[in-house]
Amino acid sequence: MIEDVKLDGLLDEARALQPRTLALRRSLHRHPEVGLQLPRTQQAIIDELADLGLEVHKGESVTSVIALLDGARPGPTVLLRGDMDALPLLEDSGLEFASQEQGRMHACGHDTHVAMLAGAARLLAARRERIAGRVAFMFQPGEEGLHGARHMLDEGLLERAAEGAAQVGAAFALHISTQYESGTLNLLAGPTMASGDRIDIEVRGRSGHASAPYRSLDPVPVACEIVQALQLLVTRRVDVFDPAVITIARIAAAYYFAYFLVILPLLGRLERPLPLPESITRPVLHGGGGPLPAGAMGKPMEKA
Ligand SMILES: [Zn+2]
Repeated sequence: MIEDVKLDGLLDEARALQPRTLALRRSLHRHPEVGLQLPRTQQAIIDELADLGLEVHKGESVTSVIALLDGARPGPTVLLRGDMDALPLLEDSGLEFASQEQGRMHACGHDTHVAMLAGAARLLAARRERIAGRVAFMFQPGEEGLHGARHMLDEGLLERAAEGAAQVGAAFALHISTQYESGTLNLLAGPTMASGDRIDIEVRGRSGHASAPYRSLDPVPVACEIVQALQLLVTRRVDVFDPAVITIARIAAAYYFAYFLVILPLLGRLERPLPLPESITRPVLHGGGGPLPAGAMGKPMEKA
């Protein structure tokens, strides 16, 4: 549990601010937005920061927000980052503040991150006189696989953060987790979060009647074998000391009653922590281990 040892009252101030932080989080939770364009969330952030005297910049191609707080004295520039986007999921929590947007949910907690970062801005703005340097608050859309940070960097995030001040010397981000007790901080030396790759596999067969599968090429058993083999790949091709995960998150076969169709997409994710050398898992997944012998893949199937 965090103790207010040398924080000089900051923790008490944060606790006093909690009702406001909670209210902001819940209002964001009611209205989740997905992707890089989150106009409502962006406006909520701008409104929340409005009375703090910060220099606020909106993103141009994406709905990001950068807010700058200059301390009373010169010093380093530190960046604090929170992500903003929700997920395309149906919320079935029954909570009083559950999502009111069909098919969208703040299931990853980024509503909480926004509220926490806005709360940090409020706490630090009140201590401006005691800050040497600048704090840049980075509100990032499109974290869920859409490279929101890359868009912000391309738009000059770091240049903006350092305009008239020192270069950004440090950046901090965090992610909430329900695995740990509320009020605790969990730290790890080295990489903590995973870096993901998306994999798409398409199995093509030849359509036929379900009563006579021997006359067709059924892609379903093949796909099942691929899923099993991918699990084996983790234990037999990746170093046992390098954590890696492959999840096949979606598998779908099209069919019409007794018939089955031929294309079976598998969608998956390969997760591994940063910054392991590139040689470890990506090349393995993307065809590492050298080319297969001629004919090993068989002849391409004719299209149905
Ligand atoms: Zn997240």
